[in-house]
Amino acid sequence: MSASIATSQTILVVGGGISGMTAALEAAECGKQVILAEKLPTLGGRTAQLYRYFPKMCHPTCGLEINLRRLKGNRNVRVLTMAEVSAISGTRGDYTATLKIAPRYVNEKCTACGDCSKAVSAEIPNPYNYGLDKMKAAYLPHGMAYPQRYVLDPSIVGTPDGEAAKAACKVGAVDLGMQEEMIELKVGAVVWATGWKPYDAAKIQPYGYDRFANVITSVEFERMCDPHGPTGGRILRPSDGKEAKNVAFIQCAGSRDENHLRHCSRICCMASLKQTQYVREAWGDDAKSTIYYIDIRAIDRFEDFYRKVQQDATVGFVKSKVAKIVQDEKTGDVVLHGVDTEGYNRYATPHDLAVLAVGMEPSIKGIKLPEDIVLDSSGFIETAGEGMFSAGCATNALDVNRAVQNATAASLRAIQVINKTAGTEAA
Ligand SMILES: Cc1cc2nc3c(=O)[nH]c(=O)nc-3n(C[C@H](O)[C@H](O)[C@H](O)COP(=O)(O)OP(=O)(O)OC[C@H]3O[C@@H](n4cnc5c(N)ncnc54)[C@H](O)[C@@H]3O)c2cc1C
Repeated sequence: MSASIATSQTILVVGGGISGMTAALEAAECGKQVILAEKLPTLGGRTAQLYRYFPKMCHPTCGLEINLRRLKGNRNVRVLTMAEVSAISGTRGDYTATLKIAPRYVNEKCTACGDCSKAVSAEIPNPYNYGLDKMKAAYLPHGMAYPQRYVLDPSIVGTPDGEAAKAACKVGAVDLGMQEEMIELKVGAVVWATGWKPYDAAKIQPYGYDRFANVITSVEFERMCDPHGPTGGRILRPSDGKEAKNVAFIQCAGSRDENHLRHCSRICCMASLKQTQYVREAWGDDAKSTIYYIDIRAIDRFEDFYRKVQQDATVGFVKSKVAKIVQDEKTGDVVLHGVDTEGYNRYATPHDLAVLAVGMEPSIKGIKLPEDIVLDSSGFIETAGEGMFSAGCATNALDVNRAVQNATAASLRAIQVINKTAGTEAA
């Protein structure tokens, strides 16, 4: 791949989630040249892994589809997938970005017919479903994936499975000779839209995520409720496949805690309120959801959603920070222990399933950053230098609406840098 695809008039957007797609599109639609680099095989980021959006409860497909249509119709954006930005150096108008391009082993001739997948027998954990199920080692990341192009897992390259995938492809799209590449790009401005990752729930020892099958995370619950998820959309206990009708949602799992994440992840309360509605949708009046919380943070228009959920007879609220969880060996129930801070009563309450509303932490950690990027105490980007701007959840834990607004603002500032650089070069 040639590095000459970029110049000092190019804006590099790092991360192809909803924020990166937005930033790239806003700049491209103003006539700027943009490179959108995404480290995974497909655009969409974590938004593509949600089942529904609060507060409207619509599917993420709608927002993503609109952006994908805009992207496909715009020649100013060059999308690089499997392209991880590992370092950036330089100053405003003159940055050098280092990108590691991982081999997909499938070229642009792919028609997404799926023949390679049928020919392969090896299976790998499915990252789209947070490893809750397995998928073939020749795969399309998910139905909405862009580009619609299969990927071969490196573990089957050099094996009979790799050869079988190649032999099955009628259009010659499987290329087992692809190699990892490092490229450098010269760009004038950078938008960091590297997003977030869920806090590692195993670190919250008293909740036993790594010991008890029926303790799962909120991101895993999103996948479980999705018809394209590991259980086909059925809410089932991982330990025994029993229908989980009595579900506990535990707030601040890792957030607002000096031992874990000191910040409030802001959207977890809304995510749990939304997820109670998945339980209601699945089991009707037989559903029982309980939210264990310190305080519910639902501001502005989200407050109406909170009020609506409060009126739902299947949803209960316990004001308490859960102290510990144990799983009953015989019944498989998870038993939550703590003190209800409204009545100051101790409780030991069994549920079918416990869902930890895990905090959101920045995923920028580990990238070699220029010195003028300042991170806040949680690792989100506070200020990003004169020609670099942060967007969406690289800036803070944000919902999609706020992430998109923030990305639009970052894009505008990147455009200003490019315009000023063009002016300087012309003078
Ligand atoms: C349980 C849960 C439920 C939620 N439900 C809702 C909801 O219903 N409604 C709502 O509005 N919000 C919801 N959210 C929040 C929503 O997920 C975020 O607002 C959204 O994902 C932000 O998008 P983003 O593009 O900023 O980040 P991300 O989605 O994290 O995208 C960042 C992208 O950058 C890529 N990347 C990272 N580092 C690099 C690198 N070095 N090089 C190249 N690429 C890189 C990543 O692979 C990723 O694709 C929920 C969050 C949680 C935890």
